[in-house]
Amino acid sequence: MLYIVPTPIGNLQDITLRALDILKSADVIFCEDTRRTQGLLSHFVLSKPTLRYNENDDRSVSRCVEILQQGKTAALVSDCGTPCISDPGWKLVRQALKAGVKVSSLPGPSAVACALAGAGITGGAFTFLGFLPRKPGKAAKLISQAYALGVPVVLYESPYRVVKMLGLISQTLGEGTPVIVARELSKVYEEWLRGSADEVGRTLAARAKVQGEFVLIIDRPGTEQKEENLNEDPHF
Ligand code: SAM
Repeated sequence: MLYIVPTPIGNLQDITLRALDILKSADVIFCEDTRRTQGLLSHFVLSKPTLRYNENDDRSVSRCVEILQQGKTAALVSDCGTPCISDPGWKLVRQALKAGVKVSSLPGPSAVACALAGAGITGGAFTFLGFLPRKPGKAAKLISQAYALGVPVVLYESPYRVVKMLGLISQTLGEGTPVIVARELSKVYEEWLRGSADEVGRTLAARAKVQGEFVLIIDRPGTEQKEENLNEDPHF
């Protein structure tokens, strides 16, 4: 049996009771980075064998599947949040399913859901693109295509590239394109920046150093005018 176990994205108290139960009872924990997971386990005073899985190494994935086929129970974790969501894990899940192993996915922390819920925007529909390709041309094309669907677009971005990304959004969709930027969710310095891509980009660029982890939400223009009639949202 393979359990997919989400772990906190910044605040260790966000681990669920069920996640702790599974980590406690599993025979082994498959980790993106064993040292990182050891930190989590020692915080919760858990001791458990860990095994690193490397998505780019087929033998590593096969080794994990063999353990599951021996009837062992394993928990799959990534460094933070939900495994497989802009994180490794999906190849292992797919191979496990192919091998007839039962897979169960636990609900829990994920930056995309956390940012969307706090964004204060309407709509049950959104497009999640995760990390965009490094090449500006490819990234711009994906942004335009996703935005054309008419629902908010959610991106993950690193502190080193967030200002450039806001510039690209501005260039591709227009300077006034509204964005919500969630920084350091669930951490001490949690921060929400709202405004046009251009404005938010300038605010961040003016800082001595851009630090932290970011979720970018590209909203639709005019959302605020529609606020009074939320039921008009076709995706609600
Ligand atoms: N699997 C994770 C999840 O479920 O959200 C995502 C892992 S991905 C490698 C890491 C990215 O998630 C960061 O670069 C950032 O874009 C986003 N992220 C993770 N933690 C965050 C936080 N506390 N605040 C804002 N964004 C966060």
